[in-house]
Amino acid sequence: MGTPRIPVFAANWKMNLLRADALGYVARIRAELPPGERRVLLLPPFLLIPEVVAAVGGDPRIAVGGQDLHPEDAGAYTGDVSGRQLRDAGCGFVLCGHSERRADHRETDEMVGAKLRAAQHNGLGPVLCIGESLAERDAGSTAAVLARQLDAALGGASQPPGSGLVVAYEPVWAIGSGRTATPAIAQESHAFVRRHLARRLGGEVATAVPILYGGSVKPDNCAALFGLADIDGFLIGGASLDPGSFLDIIGRCGPSAPEVFS
Ligand code: PEP
Repeated sequence: MGTPRIPVFAANWKMNLLRADALGYVARIRAELPPGERRVLLLPPFLLIPEVVAAVGGDPRIAVGGQDLHPEDAGAYTGDVSGRQLRDAGCGFVLCGHSERRADHRETDEMVGAKLRAAQHNGLGPVLCIGESLAERDAGSTAAVLARQLDAALGGASQPPGSGLVVAYEPVWAIGSGRTATPAIAQESHAFVRRHLARRLGGEVATAVPILYGGSVKPDNCAALFGLADIDGFLIGGASLDPGSFLDIIGRCGPSAPEVFS
């Protein structure tokens, strides 16, 4: 029996690409996406979101999301973008707590939780990013870190905090480093995350939530990770910047029937 979850392939462009690149990228994905049951999520920089949404043109195979959001819907927050604005621009998802935001912008677990609630309150599926640092892994505290990050983000919820929740396990030491978690490490962490979600939100919810792996995923290492029981797709940074490489990863992990992204 296969996974009950539809695979997700998310492209985190970070602070890369210009308008013309984005248009060419989307056109190529739309033209060359192989048939199969999967969800593609494009995460452009804020400025490119309207352009990308227009280029996607309502194609049901592709969703667009933001890389971050402010916990408030509106107000005097210079330089920030709200979930309300992302939704208005045509986004369906948003990253919450990417390790680069946690490190570079000092986002705490509590702030990430507030962002997650803001996402859901605005009808956006939060892609909750969690993961341990190398020091935390070496100290044997990976499980404790993941549990803390999940608990803080989920707050007091005993039910899934709205629909559309996706979790991305991204060991910090693997992001942009060229160092990927071994399949055994990745599966162990993903299984822990799913067990923890089951404790918090019940088995049915835990079974339904896609858990993505992120950290130096490339065409030559994706298939070994994708085959594992609790890995439901990928959040990809560097290797998603080139549409050919992103399509290559998708093609190597392809399932079989078409699916509409709701
Ligand atoms: C990321 O930014 O979420 C990421 C996983 O980056 P990379 O694939 O470059 O490691």
